[in-house]
Amino acid sequence: LPVSALLELSTGRVLSGSISSSAMASHIVGYPRMGPKRELKFALESFWDGKSSADDLKKVAADLRSSIWKRMADADIKYIPSNTFSYYDQVLDTTAMLGAVPPRYGWNGGEIGFDVYFSMARGNASVPAMEMTKWFDTNYHYIVPELGPDVKFSYASHKAVDEYKEAKALGVHTVPVLIGPVSYLLLSKPAKGVDKFFPLLSLLGKILPIYKEVVTELKAAGASWIQFDEPMLVMDLDSHQLQAFSEAYSELESTLSGTHVLIETYFADVTPEAYKTLISLRGISGYGFDFVRGTKTLDLVNGEFPSGKYLFAGLVDGRNIWANDLAASLDTLQALEGIVGKGKLVVSTSCSLLHTAVDLASETKLDNEMKSWLAFAAQKVLEVNALSKALTGHKDEAFFSANAVAHVSRKSSPRVTNEAVQKAAAGLKDFDHHRATNVSARLDAQQKKLNLPVLPTTTIGSFPQTMELRKVRREYKAKKISEDEYVEAIKEEINKVVKLQEQLDIDVLVHGEPERNDMVEYFGEQLSGFAFTLNGWVQSYGSRCVKPPIIFGDVSRPKPMTVFWSSMAQSMTARPMKGMLTGPVTILNWSFVRNDQPRYETCYQIALAIKDEVEDLEKAGINVIQIDEAALREGLPLRKSEHSFYLKWAVHSFRITNCSVLDTTQIHTHMCYSNFNDIIHSIIDMDADVITIENSRSDEKLLSVFREGVKYGAGIGPGVYDIHSPRIPSTEEIADRIRKMLAVLETNILWVNPDCGLKTRKYAEVKPALQNMVAAAKLLRQEL
Ligand code: GLN
Ligand code: ZN
Repeated sequence: LPVSALLELSTGRVLSGSISSSAMASHIVGYPRMGPKRELKFALESFWDGKSSADDLKKVAADLRSSIWKRMADADIKYIPSNTFSYYDQVLDTTAMLGAVPPRYGWNGGEIGFDVYFSMARGNASVPAMEMTKWFDTNYHYIVPELGPDVKFSYASHKAVDEYKEAKALGVHTVPVLIGPVSYLLLSKPAKGVDKFFPLLSLLGKILPIYKEVVTELKAAGASWIQFDEPMLVMDLDSHQLQAFSEAYSELESTLSGTHVLIETYFADVTPEAYKTLISLRGISGYGFDFVRGTKTLDLVNGEFPSGKYLFAGLVDGRNIWANDLAASLDTLQALEGIVGKGKLVVSTSCSLLHTAVDLASETKLDNEMKSWLAFAAQKVLEVNALSKALTGHKDEAFFSANAVAHVSRKSSPRVTNEAVQKAAAGLKDFDHHRATNVSARLDAQQKKLNLPVLPTTTIGSFPQTMELRKVRREYKAKKISEDEYVEAIKEEINKVVKLQEQLDIDVLVHGEPERNDMVEYFGEQLSGFAFTLNGWVQSYGSRCVKPPIIFGDVSRPKPMTVFWSSMAQSMTARPMKGMLTGPVTILNWSFVRNDQPRYETCYQIALAIKDEVEDLEKAGINVIQIDEAALREGLPLRKSEHSFYLKWAVHSFRITNCSVLDTTQIHTHMCYSNFNDIIHSIIDMDADVITIENSRSDEKLLSVFREGVKYGAGIGPGVYDIHSPRIPSTEEIADRIRKMLAVLETNILWVNPDCGLKTRKYAEVKPALQNMVAAAKLLRQEL
């Protein structure tokens, strides 16, 4: 078969359709809401801007839901989820369901509408939004419930029931999905004014009555299965927390009787203790496990599985974009069927498909071979169905063989494998890579060369990205302006930024990153082994989506990526110019990563490519090089037992990038979070000469590590002001911050810089803020 025909088969545009069976045992945990072209994003933003009505928004949402349900019904999925749609976030939906609206939003009871809902999500003119935080180890962010002993819970959003009925009216019998009561509470935080040790689980008795009302209505509406997402079961839980699961579901048992109950877990293995708790719950019909991220749950199931219960086996990866290895999955399924019994095994996704891209059909720029290796949410639905049919003996041979061919081609493709890179990366993990000299000797050597004042000032890299700048980049990409014109425009911008910094009297300059759209994409586009999608968007929070690059092959650097711009910038000034790179761990954590080798191997390959760049920058006379690791912390595994392994290879990868530079070359790194008390030793282990770090939003947290006596010998620049806010900090305010830092950190290691890059700010904000920052540094130098 030609590749295009295989592709049609594997993307399901041609289904063999020879078996007309009733739906097989197939299940989807959840589905992306944004739509294939981010329709929901645009509808939301237009509504928020007052450009369209609430009814317009509801119409777009209803159309998206019905097309999603129809897609799954057409694919013969048996257990189709409902209530996985959300206008903003599923945890916020649960907060609305429970009527747990913080009093500051002025809600007076009744069904919660857009007004209150979006105020909680985004704030309004008078009240800020609720806090948002990372959803487990994904790039999705949820709105953190604020709870306490005085919260009066009430059934205030009937969304789950409404959506169930809506699907039913369309002829689709769905499984309504609720965030389980225990995970909901464990994902919450004590509200302001409530004791920070307030036991959130003590609220179980207050929220369960609402869950009972919801369940009763769902049953009355005809739901024969209800799915409770309890992802907290994959975390390290103590026996008290596990006890809460037993109590909650035994309390719900009588209400749940008469319908089937699925407890769904995802993102990692469940611990043996959690597994024990789970299988001893009464009144539960089935359990969902993530067999992609979780590699040990199989053994638990193998050891013991309650007879007569359903196992929802999450074998199709909900967090990546690779086509499933159908033959391997089928083997696993057959083994599982041997344990749980015929008719009790359901093929499922590893987690909600929310965390993958929506539909490969909208990728018109990827070549057919590449597309044959991929499966986005729409294709994963077909994979789940194909596996469930095969399990019952109705194997779609054409679909399976197209998949097998794609796997062989991916394995053997010269686009994927680069012998030289494999060789260079092999065995890296067995060695240590360190700079030759220790940090204090290096700092001395660097100071001789750089001759910086005490409390040196610098910025994090980017300067404001103006409309004109974006336009220049866009036009160059679209070939509307020539290379020469583009270089000229960027050069002018760099010159402007350099002159401004000299005028402001900043000590270590940056070129401002005007040539970059995104700190990962910019490098990915120049490295081999990366591919880019047109519409591979994944929801990050609310209407915001990200489009991660796809790392499909061995990574290498065909030619220098930043040397041209950095040396141009250096030639414009006598002051040191920082070279600006994105580190390997951040590139890895913000991409879709290949699944045919361990993540650390891919990370080492990227590290070697960045190392080439570091060496070329040094050769070009750049004496200060910053390697951003904004996302190092994000990659931390969910379970503590896996932290040290991750940190070891992540930190090692960073060191590989700069282990070969001269003592006189100063390596900086930057991180966007201050919450690093638990990983401080790994950060020290990175052995950078200078680290600049987010701090101003959480002073106390960062400095407390050092107050507690951790010795930091390298240079450190805790951000002196918050770049996320348009507010301009005064000189006095910044000086106060620096004084606080000097109380804990030694004078000779302290740097003065903002929290993060300035690209989202306006010049009208940046100029006075930096002016005050430099003035504060000078003031403090006099006080010393
Ligand atoms: N160098 C980057 C910038 O200044 C760092 C961005 C980040 O940390 N997220 O924009
Ligand atoms: Zn940052």
